[in-house]
Amino acid sequence: MTNYSLNELLYKFIDDPEDPHNNFNLAIHYHSIGQTASALSYYLRTAERSDERRMQYQCLLSAANCFKSQGTRNFTVKSLLQNALTTCPERPEAYYLLGNFYLKEANHHEAYLLFSIGEGICKGNQEPLDIDVEYPGFYSLVMGKAEAAYPCGLCDESRKLFFKLKKEYSSLMTEDHRNYLQEKLSSLGAHGSNYKFRTYVSTDHKDLRFNFKGSENIKNNHSQVFQDMFILSILNGKRDGTFIEIGGGFPYHKNNTALLESDFGWKGVSIEFNEICANDYKQHRPNTNVLHANALLINYSRLIKEYFGSETIIDYLQLDIEPSANTYEALLSIPFDEYKFRVITYEHDHYVDVSESYRDKSREYLTKMGYQLVVTNVAEDDESAFEDWWVHPDLVDEYIVDVMKATDDSVKNAGKYMLCGEIIPEKEKFWDITPWPTMEFTTSIPKKGCVVDCAFCPQRILERSYVDEERYLTLDNFKRALDKLPQNVRVTFAGFTEPWLNKDCTDMLLYAHEKGHPIAVFTTGIGMKVEDVYRIKNIPYDLGPNGRFVLHLPDNERRAKHPITKNYIEVIEAFKEVHHEIQGFYTMAMGTVHDEVKHLFPEAVVPAFWSRAGNLVGEAMLKPELLNLQQEYKSIYHGEEPRTCGCDEHLYHNIMLPNGDVSLCCMDYSLKFIIGNLFEQSYEEIAPKPQSCFDMCRFCENGVKPV
Ligand code: SF4
Ligand code: SF4
Repeated sequence: MTNYSLNELLYKFIDDPEDPHNNFNLAIHYHSIGQTASALSYYLRTAERSDERRMQYQCLLSAANCFKSQGTRNFTVKSLLQNALTTCPERPEAYYLLGNFYLKEANHHEAYLLFSIGEGICKGNQEPLDIDVEYPGFYSLVMGKAEAAYPCGLCDESRKLFFKLKKEYSSLMTEDHRNYLQEKLSSLGAHGSNYKFRTYVSTDHKDLRFNFKGSENIKNNHSQVFQDMFILSILNGKRDGTFIEIGGGFPYHKNNTALLESDFGWKGVSIEFNEICANDYKQHRPNTNVLHANALLINYSRLIKEYFGSETIIDYLQLDIEPSANTYEALLSIPFDEYKFRVITYEHDHYVDVSESYRDKSREYLTKMGYQLVVTNVAEDDESAFEDWWVHPDLVDEYIVDVMKATDDSVKNAGKYMLCGEIIPEKEKFWDITPWPTMEFTTSIPKKGCVVDCAFCPQRILERSYVDEERYLTLDNFKRALDKLPQNVRVTFAGFTEPWLNKDCTDMLLYAHEKGHPIAVFTTGIGMKVEDVYRIKNIPYDLGPNGRFVLHLPDNERRAKHPITKNYIEVIEAFKEVHHEIQGFYTMAMGTVHDEVKHLFPEAVVPAFWSRAGNLVGEAMLKPELLNLQQEYKSIYHGEEPRTCGCDEHLYHNIMLPNGDVSLCCMDYSLKFIIGNLFEQSYEEIAPKPQSCFDMCRFCENGVKPV
């Protein structure tokens, strides 16, 4: 560009109208002020009068651009670009402009030809032209070729070229081209629609990375990269779980929650933007609430409250909308301060993220929110990493997390990762020979024993046997012990005394539930407040043997001596009001139900009474009332041969005391069979080895010969 004014340029031109430079200077001046009609005639005059190929070339291209900007004379534009191409076939600009001309005309084969030749010929740096002919750079030839290839039926080549652009040229691109590239990559994905992703079939079971409960019954899964199998692995085949699925897609095809719902009884909410998918979903997924909505406009606090009530822990959160920026925005709108999620699958789409930033951002954010990365860079092949898998470390089993962990920088081909040919045996979990390993908590041992002082309960023996000063289990100590228990260990609130003699018992129960343990309760209700009943009523109590929620009512015979106060009656009234909502609720008594509560619960199971592995014999010497009841309880003696436990829980229904000591079982009121201390040792260290024999078992109705 010269510094001359238009008048000066015109005077020069008048002096010598045949001089190509005078024509060129006028052309670029008119072009710069938007007078394309004047500009193009001077460009053409320059091209005709110049002997320099390069000058002719750039003038022909600029003239074509001027015509193009006027929106007419397509034929002229094309011939000017063709002329330019034949003038300097070694330069890239004409290939780019003519290729784009053909693309606009939907003449994809011509465009593909032009871009391909240009890409092949024009590699390497070229000296720039004197004027801007709207050529963005060499990458634009590759981009044009990628765009033209797809409608020519060369889909794989097109996909490869777009990925090459991301890898080699994205930093050189204009903002518009980067956005365009992002759109193309997101829509094309790593593979075409015919690509057959690896799914799980029942014959894969022997190769499953972790043999979770119920995996043996799965015929096939639905996820794209085994997300459903990962969730079930981490939660050891959890049944009746809950989920929020952001980006639901189709109800079964490549869906992460279909298997959870159909085979494991899960329920949840799915948010899907595509109306066809959402409608399809509504028809085929009866236990999922489907919202046809924009996931970025949802108030998740409100949504979770609406669908999950007062529940603050959701088992699974899926984040999968496109592109990466949207998924990240959705992540930021999740109220992590109000709700926790046991497992999260997060789709960062790193392999198509042109900015290559969202994977790191999501990792930083989720780590800050307290989540632990378990599998990085999950892909359906060996290169297209698009997901990370996370857990909340407080809400999952550490042992399983160790089995599933793969957090190095490599890309994890999901099929190879999940079906790695080795079922990791739970060999260290020898207590899992029972589906109901249990830790029962004795939350306090008052100096005078349990206030209810039941006739058939060896409280005098307990009083004499427990001499530790630590008689009251604090909430902190409870948490300390509980955090050592594997998640599948059932936590039972019963023990050697009434559990609600401890004022923190409700908080303990809720904490154990939050940590994912199955829960069972045996209580008289003594020590409870009415509000406790409402706080614990919605817990899904375990229905296995020696589980459920048992309310021990007083009896007219006063074998159980509940202090029947005004507060106690109010508590039993509250139980009456909500007992239909309490899973596994039933009542028992040691005789006929006491008149004071009979109007509330007329019936109660009266169990058979046993000598508590001989402990009632000693108790009778200290508690005269028992002498009159000797006919009412049974005793057994198996003889001298060793005996082990024949309960459904085998040897793994143990009792923790307020000082952390763990007694073998609920027969051991004399505390002679302390197997360890949970404050000081791990669960693995204190759990007895299978088939261990104990003297006490020879006097217990549950004792059996070891096998
Ligand atoms: S049976 Fe239960 S309520 Fe009765 S005295 Fe024993 S621990 Fe207390
Ligand atoms: S005494 Fe032995 S057989 Fe009886 S419940 Fe305890 S562990 Fe089982």
